[in-house]
Amino acid sequence: DLPTPNADFLGQFGSLTPEQRDVAAQVRGFMQREVAPIMNDHWSRDTFPQELIPRLRELNLLRRIWNEDGTRKPDATLMEGLITFEACKVDVSTAVFFGVHAGLATASIALGGSAEQKAEWLPRLLDMTAIGAFGLTEPEGGSQVSQGMRTTCKRDGDHWVLRGQKKWIGNSTFSDMTVIWARDVDDQEVRGFIVRAGTPGYAVEKIEGKISLRMVENGLITLSDCRVPDRDRLQNTGGWRTTADVLRLTRAGVAWQGVGCAAGAYELALAYAQQRKQFGKAIGEFQMVQRDLVLMLANVTGMLATCLRLSDMADAGDMRDEHAALAKVFTAARCRETVALARETFGGNGILLEYGVAKQFADAEAIYSYEGTNEINSLVVGRAITGFSAFV
Ligand code: FAD
Repeated sequence: DLPTPNADFLGQFGSLTPEQRDVAAQVRGFMQREVAPIMNDHWSRDTFPQELIPRLRELNLLRRIWNEDGTRKPDATLMEGLITFEACKVDVSTAVFFGVHAGLATASIALGGSAEQKAEWLPRLLDMTAIGAFGLTEPEGGSQVSQGMRTTCKRDGDHWVLRGQKKWIGNSTFSDMTVIWARDVDDQEVRGFIVRAGTPGYAVEKIEGKISLRMVENGLITLSDCRVPDRDRLQNTGGWRTTADVLRLTRAGVAWQGVGCAAGAYELALAYAQQRKQFGKAIGEFQMVQRDLVLMLANVTGMLATCLRLSDMADAGDMRDEHAALAKVFTAARCRETVALARETFGGNGILLEYGVAKQFADAEAIYSYEGTNEINSLVVGRAITGFSAFV
């Protein structure tokens, strides 16, 4: 009768509404039923299981976050966080596939699209009959992309001509549309474009050989004189502002990825420590193993508190860039520490895919670096608290 591992030690989910609990339970069940049996196979083969998309569609999760007109539900950020948390406990790749589609791509249309663009894309994005991607980062650099964007757009009559490359773009190998951000060669403004799959001059090459998030398909996109009609330019983007608005929201989601990944690893480690025997005892009976487990739990507890508070601020309209950045810095770093301790608890088995913790360990590395690296998000917070910008 040993205690069941439970990462929510202080009962911080106690204040969730019945609907929020219901969604979390649905995602938990989905992850156990549909994802857990196939994830290691896809992770090792570096492929995304397309069959998950119709099953995810049945959960209707995007409509818990977005209204049909592109406004957000009153508890959208918390709901997105709970979905992300439950998914990441089992498999971070599934959460990232969902986050790119439901966060980055859908938010770009919701925040930057005209009424016509929203009417065309949101119903399909919300019911997942069209899958979206978001192309911002470039081969020459992600951290400096706001200032050093090399992908260009140039107006040519009622079309725009896009040139350049985008690297790391999640879901882009199979997405129906990808939002591409480019700098206007004439006025230097950053503009967003909806680029439809199959557009001439738009080519995607799958990035092979990742050691993290292997089930997510990331693409290297090449735009060679790719012509996009003006009606597919995001009509409501005011330069970099919309991009920053999208990233602020999705950064909160990535902070939740850190908690979910760590919580999953902690629960695996605790269950293992309760049953694995050495020297005639469960390893969980040893003091040093208990200290590691407590450190993992303390990390998860602090991360959870931070993300719950951040989500409340976001849903109240009070979350600023530095708030999302602080949460991301904190959870990504504590996640990395937690999964390393969890992996250690498993000894040699900790590097085997079948024990689960190795995948969490590897996936934490991507969480640490995307949506703004640890350094860049630290600089965002540093600027806010000191009043000095130290980026350049
Ligand atoms: P760089 O910018 O080259 O940074 C390298 C190092 O230098 C980092 O440690 C960085 O912190 C440090 N550094 C840079 N500038 C400074 C400075 N001023 N001060 C201190 N340190 C500095 N992008 C998308 O657009 N869409 C996606 O769907 C997407 N998905 C991704 C999925 C994965 C698995 C990964 C790994 C990345 C993804 N990205 C995506 C890109 C991601 O956002 C970038 O990798 C990230 O912004 C970092 O950029 P970079 O890799 O070019 O690193």
